[in-house]
Amino acid sequence: MNGEPLALYVHWPFCVSKCPYCDFNSHVRAEIDQEAWRAALLADLAHEAQLLPGRRLTSIFFGGGTPSLMEPATVEALIDAATGYWQAARDIEITLEANPNSVEASRFADLASAGVNRLSLGLQSFDDKALGFLGRAHSAREGFRALEIAQKNFRRVSFDLIYALPGDSEDGWSAMLAQALSLGTSHLSLYQLTIEPGTRFAAMAGRGELEPLDADAAATLYELTDAMTSAAGMPAYEISNYARPGRESRHNLTYWRYGDYAGIGPGAHGRRLGKRTVRHRKPENFLSALARNGRGMAEEAPLASTEAADEALVMGLRLREGVDASAIAERFELGEIVDWRRVDRLVASGHLGRDGTRLQLTASGRLVLDHILGQIALSEPRALAVA
Ligand code: SF4
Repeated sequence: MNGEPLALYVHWPFCVSKCPYCDFNSHVRAEIDQEAWRAALLADLAHEAQLLPGRRLTSIFFGGGTPSLMEPATVEALIDAATGYWQAARDIEITLEANPNSVEASRFADLASAGVNRLSLGLQSFDDKALGFLGRAHSAREGFRALEIAQKNFRRVSFDLIYALPGDSEDGWSAMLAQALSLGTSHLSLYQLTIEPGTRFAAMAGRGELEPLDADAAATLYELTDAMTSAAGMPAYEISNYARPGRESRHNLTYWRYGDYAGIGPGAHGRRLGKRTVRHRKPENFLSALARNGRGMAEEAPLASTEAADEALVMGLRLREGVDASAIAERFELGEIVDWRRVDRLVASGHLGRDGTRLQLTASGRLVLDHILGQIALSEPRALAVA
């Protein structure tokens, strides 16, 4: 395993308030004991490090929750510990997700000094009415100000926008996207609003108080997004992520290319050494698990090769570069993992591209990924006889 690449995900589970569309593992607490959390995350990291000696660390991603609420000293301690346990790649990418309110923006310089070299900013909209609807704790003005501070402090900045809100029009979204593309970042994450079960929006939709944009209108906005980002030199490299060539998120590429990553902190998922890991979601349960046995693990289980192959196919198809179905089958010592006759039918209908055994979704295929997977994935890939 010496020198094998590894990515590290760190989950900070706290937010100042809960957004009504959010199904992430985020919690609101009146008090957060920063020192206790620093110690807990360091201990959880030490557990992973001891299992993964000799790896080359290619990226660290601080996600949440709102990791810009972490004290920069905690971020620095985790970066120092991780790059002490593992040899850091020369061009290691260290991303932190941030919200754009002024308290958090005032920490950007310290986070950069702590070693963060890429900031992912949750702007979500440039329209105060939309920000209010999304329950965000910042205004459009604060968002622009935070972006300016971020661009002064970090070499690489990305921001997120959410579109296809109820009532969104082509004109409105194309104006906002044109503005987004003019702001000088090299990466954008552009998500359509989805109503996730268990969220406040889901309850409102259930009571008829919120009517999601219809699927055809959302598809039109997606196609518009594809055309405008491509014309601006920032094409999609994944379903919702757009970048100038070479500026893709290396950390997220590790997930989509099905590389190994260690995940620490409440609710964090990981995949390493052929196992999937899941930490306790609730912050208090995570802390007590750590106190009891030195790690925040809720589940650790071997990944069956069929399950891993299916996941690798799903992840890989999200990417513009596509995925080599035969290479996955070989990696997990399976026979075929896709039904090639069905693949060819979807190629003929314009939903998939195929180059040998490499498959790519076309623009129309990207709109119906789940349907395509249901069509092509062999539910029980035939295991190869091992001699
Ligand atoms: S700030 Fe992000 S993680 Fe926190 S509640 Fe809102 S969407 Fe969820």
